[in-house]
Amino acid sequence: MADAAPPSKSRDLDKLLLRPGNLVGPTFDPGVQLRDDLQEYAKILVVGAGGLGCELLKDLALSGFKNLEVIDMDRIEVTNLNRQFLFRLEDVGKPKAEVAAKRVMERVSGVNIVPHFCRIEDKDIDFYSDFNIIALGLDSIEARSYINAVACSFLEYDSDNNPREETMKPMVDGGTEGFKGHARVIVPGVTPCFECTIWLFPPQVKFPLCTLAETPRNAAHCIEYAHLIKWDEVRSGKAFDPDNADHMKWVYDEAVKRAELFGIPGVTYSLTQGVVKNIIPAIASTNAIISAACALETLKIASAFSKTLSNYLTYNGVEGLHTKVTEFVKDKDCLVCGPGVLIELDTTVTLQEVNFLHLIEPSL
Ligand SMILES: [Zn+2]
Repeated sequence: MADAAPPSKSRDLDKLLLRPGNLVGPTFDPGVQLRDDLQEYAKILVVGAGGLGCELLKDLALSGFKNLEVIDMDRIEVTNLNRQFLFRLEDVGKPKAEVAAKRVMERVSGVNIVPHFCRIEDKDIDFYSDFNIIALGLDSIEARSYINAVACSFLEYDSDNNPREETMKPMVDGGTEGFKGHARVIVPGVTPCFECTIWLFPPQVKFPLCTLAETPRNAAHCIEYAHLIKWDEVRSGKAFDPDNADHMKWVYDEAVKRAELFGIPGVTYSLTQGVVKNIIPAIASTNAIISAACALETLKIASAFSKTLSNYLTYNGVEGLHTKVTEFVKDKDCLVCGPGVLIELDTTVTLQEVNFLHLIEPSL
């Protein structure tokens, strides 16, 4: 019996890209050409090389993408090592983007990853316009807003206020918080952009000061009492520095006293750090699940082998597993992704002379 040929590296990908199907997008053209083009021409930017970013880079490389770039301004810290699996102890202090790119290239043959160790704002607009898809593995709302604004800035509308397809810069955004996460697809002009649904991110929950001062009910209340009230009482004039270990220890000691006074259990040093620095424990498996969803959506956008997620997936692994897709709608007045209002004025008109209210609502 002849030896069977070893399975092709793209065996699993071929099932998606070489065959027709019922769920494919309107532009799907299955075949070897599609697979090869995808590998040769698709250029993907991964923003962030942290918990999600590491996963994303690996997943995209294993999904057949060969031209990846990654941008991250952070250096590797010891506390990253439990989940940012591309990093080792000897990497501490080195730029995340550079080490992540190197490690994935070592393991996945044929992939080329260009790292950028800098702030996202340091790159000019042309840098971002070069990519077919931008995949976000970020933990900050500000950074998402910035990339969203950049991607939406490429969008142009025709004279009938219809978005021009060739100017759309799709984004895939992932986010995790403990056992919860989301994956979403943003196609400017088609789906809501990040700014259209900014209300999805509620303001940080803070405890009312009276609760802290008078009726603490849990360990976090005791810690915030020590941090926000006791510190100012006892050490007023000295700014609290969350990165100063002595300061943190002081808050911890005070929180323990407070907790003993009210018979509240559970104050630990690591919880004190978590509450004061607003740290939500990162769960490696949540990152892996959300990243997998994001990588799949990226592959779908690039190849159209299936219709993309429409448009927001939530995942909750706190008790069992719950996942759901919600179709959010665009804010038609969104200042970031909307067509805006065309105002034609003489070049001599100054900003002060423009009566915006009058232009928007002429009856005013
Ligand atoms: Zn918008």
